[in-house]
Amino acid sequence: RLEVRNLTRIFDGKTVVDDASFEVRAGEVACLLGPSGCGKSTTLRMIAGVDMQDSGQILVDGSVICGAGTRVPPERRGIGLMFQDFALFPHLSVADNVAFGLKGGARANRNRVAELLDQVHLTRHRDSYPHALSGGEQQRVALARALAPRPSIMLMDEPFSGLDERLRDGIRDETLAILKDAGAAVLLVTHEPHEAMRMADQILLMRDGRIVQRGAPYNIYNAPVDRAAAAFFSDIN
Ligand code: ATP
Ligand code: MG
Repeated sequence: RLEVRNLTRIFDGKTVVDDASFEVRAGEVACLLGPSGCGKSTTLRMIAGVDMQDSGQILVDGSVICGAGTRVPPERRGIGLMFQDFALFPHLSVADNVAFGLKGGARANRNRVAELLDQVHLTRHRDSYPHALSGGEQQRVALARALAPRPSIMLMDEPFSGLDERLRDGIRDETLAILKDAGAAVLLVTHEPHEAMRMADQILLMRDGRIVQRGAPYNIYNAPVDRAAAAFFSDIN
């Protein structure tokens, strides 16, 4: 379970994340949705531990991991990360990429790697290198790699935006099924209302650094908090 309390980040006198509070339960997918520049990636970076908030707290399973004098380093937060560019290691095979975060590598974790590759349908590519894979296949390697250490929290920043639009919905559905199976608390950043509607249990609508509305996709779509929110959702059908 991920909890963020009153998180604020100021860059050069500008409040980029403004008193954001929310909670993501285990097994839940929350979508942090909002237009470009509203503070989504900054929020994710603070939770991941690669940036530090000016005030507020971040808690995992009820314990403060950052804030109030505590700062757990990124690698000890039990958080899986997946970003837009996948960032696979080009010199490592698929299996070695997947095993990267596991002590002992692919050899010592043969069963876990096999299980993950089976889950993302890449068993026959286990010895391939990233350059020989399609974008969708690379995305699935990145997903398997992020899930390998069984993180209790998954942070995903626009993980589908580099993919062919025709394939995207199918890959979203597949990814969602795998995330649900893993049971992590998932915080997924997107600027696409359609994606949030399709994937979220809970939408956190962000604007100018503030969470302006939260709730089930259906409720937000049907009762947007104001005109701007309505306009933002208006191009979905
Ligand atoms: P996008 O959808 O385009 O990825 P975003 O919602 O992820 O947008 P952020 O990357 O969080 O937006 O940026 C929010 C604001 O903070 C922007 O105005 C950005 O220019 C500013 N910003 C982000 N990082 C820094 C930094 N390291 N130094 C100064 N300003 C920053
Ligand atoms: Mg961003």
